[in-house]
Amino acid sequence: MRITNLNPDTAIGASSWLVAMEGHRLLMDAGIHPKLMGPASLPMYDLVKGQDVDAIAISHCHHDHVGSLPVALRYFPQAHVFMTELSYFLVERVLHNSVNVMKRQRDELGIREYPLFSHDEVDEMAPLFEGFKYNREIDWATHYKKKTGFLSPTLEFYDAGHALGSAGLMVRGKDETLFYTGDACFHDQTILRSARFEDIKADVLLVETTRGNRKLPSGFTREGEIQRLTQALHRVLAGKGSVLLPTFALGRTQEILALLAVLSAEGKLRRQPIYIGGLGRVFTEIYDLEAHRTHRHYPNLQLHEALNLVVLEQNDLERMKLGGGRLFVITAGMMSENTAAHNLAQRMAGDEHQAIFFVGYADPDSPAGRLKAARHGETFFFSPSGGELTLKCQVEKFDLTAHANREEMLEFIGEVEPRAVLLTHGEEDSRNWFEAQIRRRYPGISVHQPRPGETLEV
Ligand SMILES: [Zn+2]
Ligand SMILES: [Zn+2]
Repeated sequence: MRITNLNPDTAIGASSWLVAMEGHRLLMDAGIHPKLMGPASLPMYDLVKGQDVDAIAISHCHHDHVGSLPVALRYFPQAHVFMTELSYFLVERVLHNSVNVMKRQRDELGIREYPLFSHDEVDEMAPLFEGFKYNREIDWATHYKKKTGFLSPTLEFYDAGHALGSAGLMVRGKDETLFYTGDACFHDQTILRSARFEDIKADVLLVETTRGNRKLPSGFTREGEIQRLTQALHRVLAGKGSVLLPTFALGRTQEILALLAVLSAEGKLRRQPIYIGGLGRVFTEIYDLEAHRTHRHYPNLQLHEALNLVVLEQNDLERMKLGGGRLFVITAGMMSENTAAHNLAQRMAGDEHQAIFFVGYADPDSPAGRLKAARHGETFFFSPSGGELTLKCQVEKFDLTAHANREEMLEFIGEVEPRAVLLTHGEEDSRNWFEAQIRRRYPGISVHQPRPGETLEV
C-alpha cells in the first residue's frame, strides 16, 4: 500500500493521510493546524489534487483531525464521508464553530483568506456525512466495486477512548491491512472508558506518539492526581481565589466537569456555579444526550443536572470580578488569542490569589505552553495581544491525559505485530523515543517517520 503524509508540519499539526490500497484511495482525517494561520494551516491537499479519492474517514472531531473537512471535499467532491455515529452528532457544530473563529480572526488579525469555508458550505455538505457504529465493517469504495466487479477494501471503527466518538480506523484489503490509532487512550478517564483495541492485528500500523517524550514518574496514579487536584481546589477556593482550568471544548471540558460532579456528589467539593463557555455547553449537552450510546462510566450522570453550570459570554467575562472563589472550565486549552481562557489568564497571571490549573496538553509554543513553562515571579512573553506578563498567580499541572502513555502504546505496537509502523502526531523527541524503543524491542518491525508530503510504499 502507499501512504502519503499530508500534514504540513512535523509535529502534531494537521492530521491527514492518503492511503492507496488495491486500486482504491481513502483519506484518513482532514485536520487543520491549530497554530498556523490561513491556508498554511491546511493539509497539503495540492500534492494529491486530481486523484480519485473514494472516501474520507474521520477518526474524531478535534480540529487537528476534522477542521479542514470542507476544504478536503472541494478537492475530492465524489468522496463518501465516514465517521462514527457519535462523531456524526458533533461534526457540524465543530465545523460551524471553526467558521465563527475564522471570521473573528479575519476581523481581528486581518487574515483576509479567512474563513477558509463558509457556514453555507458546511450546511451543503452535511448530507454527505455518514455515521456508523463501532465494530461494523463498511464497504468504502462501493462505486468502484460496481464498476470493476472487484471486492473493495473495508473500513471499521474501533473505540479509541479519547473523546466522544473517537475511533481507530481499520482498513482491510484482500491482501493486507492497515490500522490507524487516531488519538487513543488506553486508560479509563472519568467518563470515557479506555480504548477497545483488543485483538487488533495489522500489516501496517500508524500510531500517535503524543506522550513519547513523557516518562511517568514512579508511583504515578490518576487517582493520586485527582486527589492532588481536589486539595489544590480546596486551598484556592478557601482563600477566595478563583481557579481557571483551561480546556478544549470537546472532551476535556466534559471530563473535568464529570470529575467535579463526582467530587461534589462525594461531598469533597462544595456545590457552586461552574462557569463554562458556549461551545463547551453545546458539547456537554451532546455528552449527556448520548450517555447511553457511549462506552463510559456513570451512564446516568447528566452533567447539566449534576452541576450548576453557568454559560459565559465573552462580555460577561470581562466584567466579572475574580474574587470570591469562582471556578472556570473554559476554552481554549492552548489559550489561543481571542479566547476566554486567554483573556482570563491574562487578567489572573499577575494576581497571587488566583490560580491556573493545567489539566491537559498545551503545545510549548502556545500561550498556555509559555505560561505553563514560566517560573513564579518571571516576566515572560504570553501572546502578541497579551504582551508580556509577570507570573504571580498559582500555577499547577495535573496529568489527566486523554492520550495513551508511551509504555502502553509500545505494548500495543507489539501486540499488533505489524511489518511496518509509521510514527505520527508527536514532537520530534516523542517520535524518536518510539523509534529507538521499537528498534530495540521489536527488531522485526520497520519504523518510519514520514516527513510532510512524503509518500511511503510499505
Ligand atoms: Zn484528539
Ligand atoms: Zn489530535
